[in-house]
Amino acid sequence: MNNCIFCSIINNQSSADIISENIDVLSFKDINPQASTHILVIPKKHIDDVLNADSTIIEKMFMMANDIVTKSSLSKDGFRYVINTGSDGGQTVDHLHLHILGGRQLNWPPG
Ligand code: AMP
Ligand code: ZN
Repeated sequence: MNNCIFCSIINNQSSADIISENIDVLSFKDINPQASTHILVIPKKHIDDVLNADSTIIEKMFMMANDIVTKSSLSKDGFRYVINTGSDGGQTVDHLHLHILGGRQLNWPPG
């Protein structure tokens, strides 16, 4: 989609610190990390938000996230998955993304 920063990363028009990639899903470090581990997992196809995602892509995103976590200390120490959606949810990039956050004690409830 035009003017989508995450589509630009997928198309190699913008750079990112890539963590993992397959035919459907890409993960990279968040540019403004909120914890020592802050990784985004996105579908390579532009999807606005989780309400527009089908079960197949949701499964692929979560399986990549689980794979990243399993290969790190987060699997022992704990972590959080977040999908911000819409304006009250704090979504700032309208391309579906799953945050992986960890490496510090995360607060609850979220702000
Ligand atoms: P959200 O607020 O849930 O929509 O999250 C969007 C996230 O994308 C924020 O945590 C941003 O720091 C991150 N972000 C925005 N632009 C980039 C970029 N070019 N590379 C990596 N992360 C980005
Ligand atoms: Zn996009």
